[in-house]
Amino acid sequence: MYLTLPLHRALQQRPDAIMTICGNRVRTTTEVADRVARLAGALRGIAVHEGDRVGMLALNSDRYHEFFLGSWWAGAVAHPINTRWSVPEIDYAINDSGTKVLLVDDTYAPVAAQLREQCPQLRTVVYCGDETTPAGMLGYEDLIADAAPVPDVRQGGDILALLLYTGGTTGRPKGVMISHRGLFMSLLGTHAVNLASQNGGITLHTAPLFHIAAISSWHTQNILGGTHVFLPSFTAGAFLEAVQRYKVTTCILIPSMMQMICDDPDIDSHDVSSLRRITCGGSAFSDGLRRRAMKAFPTAGFGQGYGMTETAVLTILDPGESPEQRATGRTVAHVELAIHDPEGSSVPLGEIGEVVTRGDHVMMGYWNRPEETAEALRGGWMHTGDLGYLDKDGYLYIVDRIKDMIITGGENVYSAEVENTIATHPAVSSCAVIGLPDPQWGERVHAVIVLKPGSVATVEDIQAHTRNFIAGYKTPRSIEFVKTLPMSAAGKILKRDLRTTRTTAPTQVSQPE
Ligand code: ATP
Ligand code: MG
Repeated sequence: MYLTLPLHRALQQRPDAIMTICGNRVRTTTEVADRVARLAGALRGIAVHEGDRVGMLALNSDRYHEFFLGSWWAGAVAHPINTRWSVPEIDYAINDSGTKVLLVDDTYAPVAAQLREQCPQLRTVVYCGDETTPAGMLGYEDLIADAAPVPDVRQGGDILALLLYTGGTTGRPKGVMISHRGLFMSLLGTHAVNLASQNGGITLHTAPLFHIAAISSWHTQNILGGTHVFLPSFTAGAFLEAVQRYKVTTCILIPSMMQMICDDPDIDSHDVSSLRRITCGGSAFSDGLRRRAMKAFPTAGFGQGYGMTETAVLTILDPGESPEQRATGRTVAHVELAIHDPEGSSVPLGEIGEVVTRGDHVMMGYWNRPEETAEALRGGWMHTGDLGYLDKDGYLYIVDRIKDMIITGGENVYSAEVENTIATHPAVSSCAVIGLPDPQWGERVHAVIVLKPGSVATVEDIQAHTRNFIAGYKTPRSIEFVKTLPMSAAGKILKRDLRTTRTTAPTQVSQPE
C-alpha cells in the first residue's frame, strides 16, 4: 500500500482523462505521471535520498499535486508547510523537520534568502512560480524538462510519507508523522467508502493543501479517480466562479469559508447546480450556518467531519442526517473510538470523557518529540485532548478541548457550550470563553466578545441572555468587548493568548470599544 498507487491505477484505467486543472494549465493522467516521474528524477539529481524531507511552501496549484506524488515516487517524505505562518514559524518547521530541499512559489520566493540564513541545513530552494527563476534557486519547470524519468520506488506500508505540523492552537505546532498505510487507510475507510457511488467527478481544492482535511480530500479524489481543480487562494467570488466554470461536483470547506460564501452578495448570480456534495470540517459547523448553506446550494448534500492532524477523519455526519443534529457524526469504517476517563477506562454511554482512538489511521508519532508521543499514544490509544460523549446510536458529540474546560467552584464548564449560547445573541459576531484565576472559585468564567458592526449590547444584556439557556455557574462572571480575537494560522481562536494576556487584567467588565 503506497500513496502513488492511485496514479498507476489511473494510468492503467484513464490515461487520457483530465487529471489536473489550474488556471490555463490542463493535464491528462499520462502527462501528470510523466512529470511526476521526472520530478522524482530531478529530486534524485539534487541528492534527495529515501526518507529525506522535501518541503512545499506554496498556494494550492497543480504543482502541489505533483510535489506530493513526486516526493513519494522518489521515496522521500512530503512536508507541506503552512503558508499563513510568519517567517520565524516557518524557520521553526524547516529546522525542526531537518528539511533540506524546499519548493516555493511566487508568494514565498521573496523570503527564501531569509529562510536559508536561518535554516543552515536548507541546501536547495526550487522555484515553482510562474515568473523568471530568481537567482540562487533552481527552476521547477527546468528541473522537470532536464531530468530523466525514474521508476517509482513503490515503497509504502509503515514508511513515513507525510510530515504535517498541527495547528498550534494549544502550544507549539508538533510535526505529526503519517505513514503511507496510515493515510491510505484513513481515506479508504472515510470518503472513499462514503462517496464510492460518485466516481470522483470534479473536485475543487480551495482549502489549503498543507492541512490534513484538504490532503484527505485530495487523496480521496486520487482514489476515486476524477479531476482536480486547484484554486490558489480562497475568496467567495473565486470559489463561486470556479464552481460555475468547471461544473464542480465536490469540495471541502472549513466553516469560516462557508460563512464568507453565504455572506457574498453575488451568490445568487452564479450557477452552482453542479455541486453534489460539500464536506465541512476543521471546526464545528453550526446549525445556523448549515441551514444557510443548504439554501445556497440546494443540489448539494452536506457532510461534516471531526478529526485532527494526528488521526485524519474520525467521524462523519452524512448528508441527509438531521440538520438539528449537533453531533459530529459517527465513526468511519476503519476507526475504533472510545471515551475514556483519566484512568484509561471506558466511561458509561452518554458520559463525557476524553475521545481516544486506535488503528492504522493513527500517526506514527510526533517528529523528534518522544515524550509528547508517549503521552499522546499511551496504553495503545491516541488521546485526542478533546472531550466528548457517544449517544446510544453511536453519534459523537464534542463538548470542548480538555485544555479549554473551566473548573469553577468545583463544577466543570465547557467553554464551547457557553460560546454557542452567547453566539445566539443577535448582537454578537464572535466570542471566546476562558477560565481566569479567581481566589474564591478557583477559576471564573470570562467571555471576550466581538459585536457585529453597528450593534450594541451591554454586559448585563449578555449575562441575562445567557442565563435563559444555561445554568448560573456557567454564565460569564466577567465580560469584555474587543474589536478582534487572536487567530491561529488555521483560523482558530488562540485562547492560550487570551489567557496569558488576561491573568493580570482587572476583573471588571468593559463596555464596547
Ligand atoms: P494543536 O494540536 O497544535 O494545538 P490543533 O489541535 O488546532 O492544534 P488540528 O489537528 O488542525 O490542530 O485540529 C484538530 C482539532 O480541531 C481537534 O482536536 C478538535 O479540537 C478540533 N475540531 C476538528 N473538527 C471539529 C469539529 N467538527 N467540531 C469541533 N471541533 C473540531
Ligand atoms: Mg491538536
